[in-house]
Amino acid sequence: MFNSLSDRLANTFRNLKGKGRLTEADIDATAREIRRALLDADVAVPVVRQFIAQIKERALGAEVSQALNPGQQVVKIVNEELVEILGGETRRIQHAKTGTTVLMLVGLQGAGKTTLAGKLAHQLKSDGHTPLLVACDLQRPNAVKQLQVGGERAGVPVFAPHPGVSSEFEVPTGDPVQVALDGIAEANSKYHDVVIIDTAGRLGVDQELMQQAKDIRAAVNPNEVLFVIDAMIGQDAVATAQAFNEGVGFTGVVLTKLDGDARGGAALSVRHVTGKPIMFASTGEGLKDFEVFHPDRMASRILD
Ligand code: GDP
Repeated sequence: MFNSLSDRLANTFRNLKGKGRLTEADIDATAREIRRALLDADVAVPVVRQFIAQIKERALGAEVSQALNPGQQVVKIVNEELVEILGGETRRIQHAKTGTTVLMLVGLQGAGKTTLAGKLAHQLKSDGHTPLLVACDLQRPNAVKQLQVGGERAGVPVFAPHPGVSSEFEVPTGDPVQVALDGIAEANSKYHDVVIIDTAGRLGVDQELMQQAKDIRAAVNPNEVLFVIDAMIGQDAVATAQAFNEGVGFTGVVLTKLDGDARGGAALSVRHVTGKPIMFASTGEGLKDFEVFHPDRMASRILD
């Protein structure tokens, strides 16, 4: 992820090396190259526009530093603006002050929700919590089973509508809203302090899916609704994120498949477009391929 963007930016900055002073023409040329690199990385156009405007304004402005040469100064500005576009501060889960914390995962089918549920449960358990996974994806064949496998790996119990789902492709029936409510009741009675609700996705944004997620959200009033998005989907990321933001609403974003060789535009656009923080990054299929998203570290990785 970001390899190509990193290389392009490094090349751009190399051209500035050794310059004693940057003219307006230097800054314009640099801004143009950065703009092209970002567009080629699938970053959304409005995001690129704002980013470039900021860079130019600051580079042309009177930010004179004794310690940095002009080239280093541009790198510093780009770094700071990248951190900003990625959300600035690290945002962590806000747990309920009393009682059970409810986390709900939403997103398209294949985004990586069920995989993430296991990872999140594993992480929370390592942090001393006693999570319960709740299987509300009653749409996708095998989703419940997959969550049960993930729960087993994480050493975290799973609440499912049919505890005995045995046939490999059986789709359990039931009302996802009721399952969510029953799952929370189960958590309360068995002293689980965090509930992670896995919900159904579809291949594309559709009304029924939105309504179901909305109904679950309204019924359980989660502390966090995490929108899970595959970073590989490129330009579609923006429209999908907007649809979920308007249709269901969410409090944070999880980027998955950051281990892939996608160009990274989703990571750089989603925060700006939705105004919601990126909270976690998923970087593989294993339980531990998962990290808290730190905007500053991600920016450094891009500029390394
Ligand atoms: P869901 O439909 O949203 O529940 O998606 P799944 O959790 O079933 O994930 C869809 C596919 O993506 C599965 O094959 C996962 O193993 C895979 N996957 C999930 N997260 C990641 C990730 O961070 N990196 C990679 N490479 N694959 C992932």
